[in-house]
Amino acid sequence: NRKIVLASRPVGAPVAEDFCLQQTAVPTITEGEVLLRSVYLSLDPYMRGRMSDAKSYAEPVALGEVMVGGTVCQVEQSNHADYQQGEWVLSYSGWQDYAISNGEGLLKLGMHPTHPSYALGVMGMPGFTAYMGLLDIGKPQQGDTIVVAAATGAVGSMVGQIGKIKGCRVVGVAGGEQKCRYAKEVLGFDDCIDHKANDFAEKLAEACEQGIDVYYENVGGKVFDAVLPLLNTGARIPLCGLISQYNATELPQGPDRMSMLMGTLLVKRIKMQGFIIFDDYADRYDEFAADMSQWLAEGKIHYREDLVQGLENAPQAFIGLLDGKNFGKLVIQTNSA
Ligand code: NDP
Repeated sequence: NRKIVLASRPVGAPVAEDFCLQQTAVPTITEGEVLLRSVYLSLDPYMRGRMSDAKSYAEPVALGEVMVGGTVCQVEQSNHADYQQGEWVLSYSGWQDYAISNGEGLLKLGMHPTHPSYALGVMGMPGFTAYMGLLDIGKPQQGDTIVVAAATGAVGSMVGQIGKIKGCRVVGVAGGEQKCRYAKEVLGFDDCIDHKANDFAEKLAEACEQGIDVYYENVGGKVFDAVLPLLNTGARIPLCGLISQYNATELPQGPDRMSMLMGTLLVKRIKMQGFIIFDDYADRYDEFAADMSQWLAEGKIHYREDLVQGLENAPQAFIGLLDGKNFGKLVIQTNSA
């Protein structure tokens, strides 16, 4: 049984030495328990927060403990009346091969799910986040201009496609020409601007001639700086994530622009609201699942996975996620099905 534990708390960007791969015996189950064998592990930006002991909405991972994370597992052995061997479940068993569960918190995925790993992405936490943030906070109206950054990622790709379904003009922001082309040609965005280009702010302004009605915030930093002057009166900003600052050790250099932000929010009556998906919307998962499964069945949603083989490669893949190395929803295949 391999497991990856938190070896040290990163200062700035995480490095390989912050993680440690350990070998332990496969745990044994008692009455009322199941032994889960992980097949897919989800890697998500929030894990950077769990590596740090700064105060947040969730407890940090303790040093020496297994890194947390959503997993799709198969039941290897069962002493539990509700579970049978071979069944698939969505679990939160973290960065390890095997885990024991008493059934609490498991979501059944059936004996033969068509795409088991979708439960970590389009049908799971990231898809749900895109759906609730955009529709409940962003409140897009037909003809609105929506801007979303990390546009080809797990959340952003869904935000933009839902925006198109709702009849909006969607402008993505992504890192590099290849991702921008994918957003336009495959995801169907109206435009997508490369945030690494020197003329990024000008290009974004050109793509948003009518201003911005909804800015779905995933990254912060210079992308937000370029968005702020383009926001329309009455714009909505679902504040979902700020990945550009997750590795920051201090406030950004340069003049304090807080008063400019406050002034813009006031004069343009802009609503900006943060949210934490399961804390705020857990009771609305079914609503999301019904819509998303229908859109998928109708071919209205494209979903791209960045599948990395091998649990041992999780640290490097995670380090890359915070630097835009992933292209699509980052998932580790920990074991074969
Ligand atoms: P992604 O699949 O989008 O992967 C992260 C992407 O962020 C990278 O591929 C990169 O895309 C982009 N990125 C990284 N660093 C920077 C930077 N400095 N500037 C601009 N872009 C950067 O991840 P997710 O879809 O899983 O998550 C997206 C956001 O949503 C994150 O901020 C995450 O924390 C947040 N989130 C919030 C939740 C909530 O409940 N509030 C729940 C789930 C996610 P590119 O190469 O295109 O720049």
